[in-house]
Amino acid sequence: MRIQMPAQVEQIIRKLNENGYEAFAVGGCVRDALLGREPEDWDITTSARPGQVKALFRRTIDTGIQHGTVTVMIGRTGYEVTTYRIDGEYEDGRHPKRVEFTASLLEDLKRRDFTINAMAYSHETGIVDEFGGMADLAAGVIRCVGDPLERFTEDALRILRAVRFSAQLGFAVEAGTWKAITVIAPNLARVSRERIQVELTKTLLSDHPERIREVFETGMSPYISPVFATLPQGRVRIPATLPRVKYVRWAAFLRCACEQGTTVFDGKMGEATGNTDAAATAVRILKELKMDHDTIARVKTLVSWSGVEPVAEPEAVRRAMAQMEPELWDALTELNEYGAAIRAQTAKIRADGDCLRLSELAVKGKDLIDAGVKPGKEIGAILARMLDHVLAHPEDNERETLLRADGFETDDFCQK
Ligand code: ATP
Ligand code: MG
Repeated sequence: MRIQMPAQVEQIIRKLNENGYEAFAVGGCVRDALLGREPEDWDITTSARPGQVKALFRRTIDTGIQHGTVTVMIGRTGYEVTTYRIDGEYEDGRHPKRVEFTASLLEDLKRRDFTINAMAYSHETGIVDEFGGMADLAAGVIRCVGDPLERFTEDALRILRAVRFSAQLGFAVEAGTWKAITVIAPNLARVSRERIQVELTKTLLSDHPERIREVFETGMSPYISPVFATLPQGRVRIPATLPRVKYVRWAAFLRCACEQGTTVFDGKMGEATGNTDAAATAVRILKELKMDHDTIARVKTLVSWSGVEPVAEPEAVRRAMAQMEPELWDALTELNEYGAAIRAQTAKIRADGDCLRLSELAVKGKDLIDAGVKPGKEIGAILARMLDHVLAHPEDNERETLLRADGFETDDFCQK
């Protein structure tokens, strides 16, 4: 079996070989190439020690030199070249106390988490598959290398990786591996929240985002966060057709915290109501998981609007649109599955260039100051009033019209 590799990877392997070292593409890239998926990055494993790797290549970066990883730069692309290693005892269920280099490829493959991730390849040797990775790839199975209880005890993050790979590849977790996950689930409490979040995010962004349910089914959820554990898993519904955007997928998941049903937004109730509790739950979970602020803010808006539907009239749709950024509105349209009428209103509002936010208002703070309003709170209040008016009457978004409607004598400065 021959795998297509980037020329740079072939070049790195050849150079190591020419200098008497073994070298292979390894792990995720071999798995993905065999599945016909484009590997994200190509990792190389070698018998050469880090110093020996550095001596052979002109440009290298000490990425994780204490773990044996050197990044070899070719052009603008970096390739991680890691010395064969055995991971020592694990200290805290996450970090090996020390790593030990070895001359044996087999030892290096043994430390890897799943059979499908424990294959190596070179043109010279072909596929090295000591643990039945090919068979598991063909059968669509996630199975630990060696004893699953031991492997998950060494590193509890692996139990989430199992779910993540099952979602990305559409594979089933093998029974013994699944059983071990349920036993080791409490050890997740010792894994960093950020790493947990990264795995959950990858799960949600995958082809099978609904497999996030496995996190509940295996009993992991209480150890992800106490609030997370309260989510009603039965209500989780994430269409795989949603765009692969972090905040959209997280919102689709966390909307399970909302009460079912649709709330009608008639445009008169100001801020959207109904889902403030669910939005607060979503925010708490995301904060616990150290999510970035921008994503938290967006998910909060989308969850609070979950199941809220404006009546399909221009003003109500404008007032709803006015409460979020355009791309959030588009995401909400997908999440709430708005029908043709609202979509048509949206298109018309955009085509007409209707004013939806202060930045689009024809009157600026400076205009009010020029008209004699004292800088301060009052300015904001007047502008908000004008925006409110324009959302009902978009044709009035003209400086003079707005100022006059608000009782300002405009002639003075219009002549200037
Ligand atoms: P992707 O890059 O698509 O997330 P991957 O399989 O390449 O998937 P990485 O996290 O990049 O995953 O790790 C590269 C390889 O290192 C894996 O394929 C696996 O062999 C090994 N590996 C990574 N993390 C672990 C772990 N926690 N325990 C054991 N082996 C691991
Ligand atoms: Mg990778």
